[in-house]
Amino acid sequence: MADTYDLVILGSGPGGYVAAIRASQLGLKVAIVERERLGGICLNWGCIPTKALLRTSEIYHYMQNAESYGLKADNVGFDLAKIVDRSRKVAGQLNAGVKGLMKKNKVTVVEGVGTVTAKGKLSVKQGDKTVELEAKNIIVATGARARDLPFAKADGKRIWTYRHAMVPTEMPTKLLVIGSGAIGVEFASFYNDMGADVTIVEMLPRILPVEDEEVSAFMDKALSKQGIKLLTQTGLEGLAPSANGVTAKIKAKDGKVSEETFSHAIIAIGIVPNTENIGLEALGVETDRGHIKTDGYGRTNVDGIWAIGDVTGAPWLAHKASHEGIIAVEKIAGGSPHQMDKANIPGCTYSRPQVASVGMTEAKAKEAGYELKVGKFPFIGNGKAIALGEAEGFVKTVFDAKTGELLGAHMVGAEVTELIQGYVVARQLETTEAELMETVFAHPTLSEMMHESVLAAYGRAIHY
Ligand SMILES: Cc1cc2nc3c(=O)[nH]c(=O)nc-3n(C[C@H](O)[C@H](O)[C@H](O)COP(=O)(O)OP(=O)(O)OC[C@H]3O[C@@H](n4cnc5c(N)ncnc54)[C@H](O)[C@@H]3O)c2cc1C
Repeated sequence: MADTYDLVILGSGPGGYVAAIRASQLGLKVAIVERERLGGICLNWGCIPTKALLRTSEIYHYMQNAESYGLKADNVGFDLAKIVDRSRKVAGQLNAGVKGLMKKNKVTVVEGVGTVTAKGKLSVKQGDKTVELEAKNIIVATGARARDLPFAKADGKRIWTYRHAMVPTEMPTKLLVIGSGAIGVEFASFYNDMGADVTIVEMLPRILPVEDEEVSAFMDKALSKQGIKLLTQTGLEGLAPSANGVTAKIKAKDGKVSEETFSHAIIAIGIVPNTENIGLEALGVETDRGHIKTDGYGRTNVDGIWAIGDVTGAPWLAHKASHEGIIAVEKIAGGSPHQMDKANIPGCTYSRPQVASVGMTEAKAKEAGYELKVGKFPFIGNGKAIALGEAEGFVKTVFDAKTGELLGAHMVGAEVTELIQGYVVARQLETTEAELMETVFAHPTLSEMMHESVLAAYGRAIHY
């Protein structure tokens, strides 16, 4: 006999486990199926362990620059095994936390590989055993995995995916990072700060290509100044590992192909959704380039089958997955949630310096036909930034000149990943320039730059 539930969720990443908790809060009988570790990629192999590593490289950077703060730190060094161990322990702590949350919320956790066998039916393989589950509704939250290069598979020795890059047993001496999205730039920043000689190759004309052009240009300068070699409009045509390294065939802007040997390479060229072999084809669930097609509530074209998170497409972010999970569950429970508004999802890159943004870039806003008022305020004009020794960066705001609507905000510099939420709230509340200008910002804080940027858009900046 199958165990029956109101809702079964396939996959326990930030999409799945958050949806399970909300479902339990709404009185649904809910089970979650997981083949690996509760918490999914985000807290086991993604967002969280990378931030633990980046915290180490940040502190290491400060230690090496202790003198500029009047401090002495001699014989600064590191123990790679301990760095990785700390990152794994942080991930382990959060994994245990999710286990606790499942228990507290009376969510049944079913370990094993799940497949949707029919509408309302799932089977879960647990070694030799198979468990059958039935549910009125099923949410697919199976996430995504790293995309391989067509001509070179990650071997974990010389060619790494993010998983290998997160648990190095040796420090790369000369590292090639393939792809300059958030994941590639974060690893480049970590390894560069830890002393590796880092090169990034990017096919597109600029790094962090989804960000505002001025942010990309600033990051290009900042990372180059730190010693990272950035090769844009550059293709990778081959990657041959050997016992001592990996030789890359690189096609430059001018079409010239050259070879260079690195100690290691990280492939960071995007992800592939986990939609195969989970029963979706047989049910006729529609996909688009592998991603499950959903409406603003997470409904697929098949009644009773929902999908959330990375498996449904960009942006591939944990908070997007969680928010989609909440919306889907509230709809399932008969509520009236707002549909997902992708224009209000912040995106962050936790490199040094950090990058954060929400809404339209200046170029996208122009393309959409808006007449714009654009404000920009540099970190050098902010007392707190100077006091912190972090005077590098800027805050840019883009307004609709006609209505004063904040169309987008783009930041680069220290702690901007914490600041961005102020603008996300502003956009959610449909705030205009007038309210932002009238808001009092605490002094001295980095957030004052958010005020100044708005003022700058209207020619009223005080400190620059
Ligand atoms: C290196 C790295 C850094 C990142 N940093 C950030 C960041 O800073 N901020 C951010 O927002 N995002 C970040 N991300 C992205 C983030 O991790 C994902 O967007 C997020 O995890 C997606 O959540 P999800 O619930 O959709 O899927 P996932 O977290 O991928 O979870 C899916 C789960 O489903 C399970 N599963 C799959 N198939 C089955 C099956 N058949 N049966 C049972 N279980 C199954 C998997 O084992 C997995 O645990 C990062 C990703 C990487 C790789």
